[in-house]
Amino acid sequence: MEIIKKRIILAFFVLASGGVGVFTMHYFYAQAPAIRIDLAMLKEKENLVPLLVLGSGPASLSAALYGSRMGVKTMILRGNQPGGQLTQTSYIENWPAIRKTRGAQVMSEFENQVAHFGADLLSDAASEVDLTVWPYKVVTEGGHTLYALSLMIGTGAQPRRLSIPGEQEYWGKGVTTCAICDAPYHKGDDVVVVGGGDSAMEEALELSSYAKTVHVLVRTKQIRASNSMLERVKECVNVVIHTERALLKINGNGSHITGVVVQNTATKESEDWATIRGVFLAIGHIPNTSLFKGALRCNKEGYIELKHRTQNTNVPGVFAAGDVADPTYRQAGVAAGDGIKAGLDSVWWLSSIGYNSIIQAQLEATFFDPAAMEKRELQELNSSDDYHELLKSVEEEYVVLDYFTAYCPSCMNMLPMIEWAAAKFAGKIRFCKVDASLAYDLVKKFKVPDVPHIVILKKGEVVDRLKEIKSRSELYDYLKKLLQ
Ligand code: NDP
Repeated sequence: MEIIKKRIILAFFVLASGGVGVFTMHYFYAQAPAIRIDLAMLKEKENLVPLLVLGSGPASLSAALYGSRMGVKTMILRGNQPGGQLTQTSYIENWPAIRKTRGAQVMSEFENQVAHFGADLLSDAASEVDLTVWPYKVVTEGGHTLYALSLMIGTGAQPRRLSIPGEQEYWGKGVTTCAICDAPYHKGDDVVVVGGGDSAMEEALELSSYAKTVHVLVRTKQIRASNSMLERVKECVNVVIHTERALLKINGNGSHITGVVVQNTATKESEDWATIRGVFLAIGHIPNTSLFKGALRCNKEGYIELKHRTQNTNVPGVFAAGDVADPTYRQAGVAAGDGIKAGLDSVWWLSSIGYNSIIQAQLEATFFDPAAMEKRELQELNSSDDYHELLKSVEEEYVVLDYFTAYCPSCMNMLPMIEWAAAKFAGKIRFCKVDASLAYDLVKKFKVPDVPHIVILKKGEVVDRLKEIKSRSELYDYLKKLLQ
């Protein structure tokens, strides 16, 4: 295919965004696009999104920043982990130009910046993607069907699991991937961290302030973590690194962990470690590409393949950046840089198919408008008195209490799903939120052991509890069953 090199004046996008003036740029793409803007056809559509970004980690927000700042109407589907993996880390010290900050803080400021340039942020996640039609069709867990002129995939990666006996059974009851969320529940305990990379060391450091002893299990002799991280770990007297050790089994009594079985991988001998009460997994990630199986070219590990040195996938107008397409670096800074490239690639590609600010103005009525969606604010209960007041007025048979704290990333992931469910089941189930760090009497009243925690009440009696919700669809199915 002939390589086309063009110089394009993107003044129309820059001016449309209130930008600083005209600039020019070179761009490359591997093939002349077969797709062209057909105004009459597009005017017939509903819920169009010129640049739709899937995910809200550094790659996604960087792409959205460039798209929206250059004047392209941009929408971000925040996904089931808003802010991405950075919100699960404690402090970060390698975000360029900032000595030390919180991951969640960076992502929150990032969202504000992107919103400032006019991008819409929607707390929803893609559940189906069809790349055989253009505009590309994306169905969301919240029930919207969107049509994207260009698509940027920044769906990231999720923590790998071990698949050993006891792991699933004790998930959320002592087995976790988030020390920042769950370390406070292990005051004075012996715990294990599995993994030998920077994530494992970070988990160990977080746990060292709470646990009696933190045992880090590294399956080989090779510790992958950086020297600077290892230095910090070595300063903690209660962290012990065991090389050539694998976790074989997690034992428990039904409600919590009562020990683990650890194997010496050199001798193959195994030992019972009966004092262990917590297991923290930090064994890498797998890319979130299941939505694109068969539609996009991926490598054998599932990472999206990119063309040349761009963020182009094998489908025109579809771009990817961040951990979903990066098996090598997997750094937030790299993801942000690649996201910038993806934002530019998207704007250039849209321009190449005839999209500009004049077309955008003519298509405005067809654009998806998240502001028109119903309000989903949850009622907040701050005390037992509030709860008793609620009971007097509530007409619904079921009441769902979502216990959260502002500093718990998993809680912040769960809250948008609960808000969404509140709108979906309005009139049938009443949803309220409880800040566990403030409403102590409500924590005690319903024996809430940790957060996030969801209590389901029927006529004032506890009928069930949920610790983990993976997706809107899972929550939707659960609540539908509850009402049957
Ligand atoms: P890594 O891929 O670097 O490390 C994964 C670790 O888990 C390795 O020790 C690996 O062992 C081990 N592992 C994988 N599968 C299993 C298994 N089935 N059983 C036991 N052990 C297993 O992932 P990380 O998440 O630690 O880091 C990813 C990237 O993010 C890295 O580039 C890292 O530097 C960066 N990072 C940076 C941080 C910071 O700077 N603040 C914090 C956290 C991460 P093996 O070596 O044998 O494969």
